[in-house]
Amino acid sequence: MSETFLEDNFGRRIDYLRLSVTDRCDLRCSYCLPKGFRDFGEPDHWLNFEEMTRVVQAFTELGVQRVRLTGGEPLVRRDLPLLAGQLAQLPGLTDLSLSSNCTRMDKLAGPLYEAGVRRLNVSLDSLREEVFARVTGGGKLHKVLRGIEAAQQAGFAPIRINTVAMRGVNDQEIETLLDFCAARGFTLRLIETMPVGSTGRDALEDFVDLQTVKRRLEQRFTLTPDVQPGGGPARYYRVAGSDTRIGLITPLSQHFCDTCNRVRLNAEGTLHLCLGQEHNYPLRDVLRRGAGVEDLKDHLRTAITLKPQRHEFREKPSQVVRFMAMTGG
Ligand code: SAM
Repeated sequence: MSETFLEDNFGRRIDYLRLSVTDRCDLRCSYCLPKGFRDFGEPDHWLNFEEMTRVVQAFTELGVQRVRLTGGEPLVRRDLPLLAGQLAQLPGLTDLSLSSNCTRMDKLAGPLYEAGVRRLNVSLDSLREEVFARVTGGGKLHKVLRGIEAAQQAGFAPIRINTVAMRGVNDQEIETLLDFCAARGFTLRLIETMPVGSTGRDALEDFVDLQTVKRRLEQRFTLTPDVQPGGGPARYYRVAGSDTRIGLITPLSQHFCDTCNRVRLNAEGTLHLCLGQEHNYPLRDVLRRGAGVEDLKDHLRTAITLKPQRHEFREKPSQVVRFMAMTGG
């Protein structure tokens, strides 16, 4: 096996890695982690920064140019800017980004930007303090807003706000969220709830089909299809008369597996080949046995052949037992 890039059995080129640096989170979003959940992995089991950097180097030498730090909440992992700095220096890595709930961003925005992180996705499901607290199991909206402001001041761009649409919770707030984004130059991305873990499945009770939201928004805004670099799962639209874009992530109502270009490495070193399936390849023991980059590249080439064609969220909604925070959503 000597390919210099990663291609799966369905001809999809893998050029994007989501790297989960911890499964811990300081919020308990209703669709993600159960209330009061504490059954996290042991820190001893987490990959250390050297191990993460070694495996990311192997990925970059196989053509992966883009890495997103995620979790859990990545900002709860101590010294995250150190890791970001190491990754940013890898030749071949052109895009280092972060997904965060921004509760701790006011202190970390500067160091993370200086380390080389540029793009930021923020989870934000409501701009109403009490709704935000209810959805997140006690989160403080004002802290998040302060964090977002700090990120913008530090220079992060683009900033995208990720909102899981929930019937009767925030589905009537989408126009307000869009106005919030328009005023700040952010992109709003709406996400359909996925049946990941028991929490995700329970949350399907409030499922919102984003095709219906799009039709509603079109009554107030003119939306023209827009292409965003990166080839991610969202379908983007430009909101006429502004610089704002809205993205719809519709794993259920319109899946996008044919163009899937990503894999996920969780904090314990397990490579997940699909968010909606259990296919995985454990790398931690390989790393701890001291595998070098060339060895790791062989493992990655083998792992990629396990990537399934598509998720089965609709056909088999009970299939994925792990919570989103355990995979690195
Ligand atoms: N803590 C970081 C954050 O808040 O962005 C990164 C991890 S979080 C698991 C990543 C994204 O997954 C968030 O936007 C969250 O809303 C989303 N998410 C979690 N569980 C989900 C589910 N069951 N369905 C859809 N999105 C989900």
